[in-house]
Amino acid sequence: MNTWTLTPAEYAATVAKVAAINKRAAKRGFTGRFELSGTTVTRKAENGVGEYVFVEATLTGEPPCYDGWTFLAAIDAVATDAGTEFLVRCAPGVDESLVDRSALREGACDHCGTKRNRRRVMLVTDGTTVNQVGATCIKDFLGWSTLPAFIDTESVRDGFGGLGGGTPSATVETVIAVAYAAVQRFGWGSTYSKTPTRMVVSDVLFGSRKKDAELRAELAPFIEQGERMAPAITETVLAHVVESGDSFEANLAVILRAEYVPDNGYGILCAAIPVYDRLVGTKKAETEPVVDAWIGTKGEKVTVTGRITTALTVDGYAYGSTQRLVVIETPAGVVKTYTAAAWAYDVDSGDEVTVTGVVKEHDTYRDRKQTVLVRPKRA
Ligand SMILES: [Zn+2]
Repeated sequence: MNTWTLTPAEYAATVAKVAAINKRAAKRGFTGRFELSGTTVTRKAENGVGEYVFVEATLTGEPPCYDGWTFLAAIDAVATDAGTEFLVRCAPGVDESLVDRSALREGACDHCGTKRNRRRVMLVTDGTTVNQVGATCIKDFLGWSTLPAFIDTESVRDGFGGLGGGTPSATVETVIAVAYAAVQRFGWGSTYSKTPTRMVVSDVLFGSRKKDAELRAELAPFIEQGERMAPAITETVLAHVVESGDSFEANLAVILRAEYVPDNGYGILCAAIPVYDRLVGTKKAETEPVVDAWIGTKGEKVTVTGRITTALTVDGYAYGSTQRLVVIETPAGVVKTYTAAAWAYDVDSGDEVTVTGVVKEHDTYRDRKQTVLVRPKRA
């Protein structure tokens, strides 16, 4: 099949590549032409956060035609344990399913009427009959002094691998929703701050580390809220910046209307959140700041009460086993624990719990202190 899925960046690179192939082929006297077309589609992200934009690309074209003969395919004979089989390499625009493999005759040339040990024959048609002509007879068959070039779809298609630019492109709504979530949870961080909002957004959307999965889980309720807010945020901010003479705001307007967020547009788009907050004059319902402190001393048994912010099933130490990651915000500081205890599978984000455990470590996560508990028991 000559249809495949690319990121918008890969698609743009492939369009340029096809143009270069056509130009080179024309120089070599190839009268065929490759054409790449694309349909933009939006898909849910595999990690569950938002949607990405892809392009379903199709490679078609026009087969080469010389002196009224259209070249359909190059046919290579291959000796297999079934006897002789054929590799069919189609010209641009020729559908392989239209080539009748059962009609192919090994080594036969309809031009000179001989059957020899030929490596390759060309399949040609004048619109009524389909002939196979030995590759070495093509010149004579066309009455030409040079052999025309033949470029098949598959070899062009093969060259498209490893284009890079493989990072998926998120939709505007998705980035707005995640940026909103990040700002709700950690506050706004500009590009030059210690924890820029755009880095949090990038980790949530594209991160593949364990801590990125934890971050996604931690932000999940805020992202849900962000998804509900995204249309209003987009509309409000766009109305404000669309005719702005300010260069930053003009750029923001462009990104807000974009089909997908270009690689260098994430930072600009994140800034829509503080712009929105300013516009609607959010007097942030100042959520009580979480105390940034460690609890107890290493080895000490402590009891804490608080609200669960993360409850996530993760891989356990033994193959195929699982454990729960539970993060609890308490008035004394944030507590984190990994456990396979049954109670941990029954709790969820938002639950109030009281847990007793032994302090194993005083850790830091996103510049905030976390106390790691082992052997946690729920009171
Ligand atoms: Zn021949």
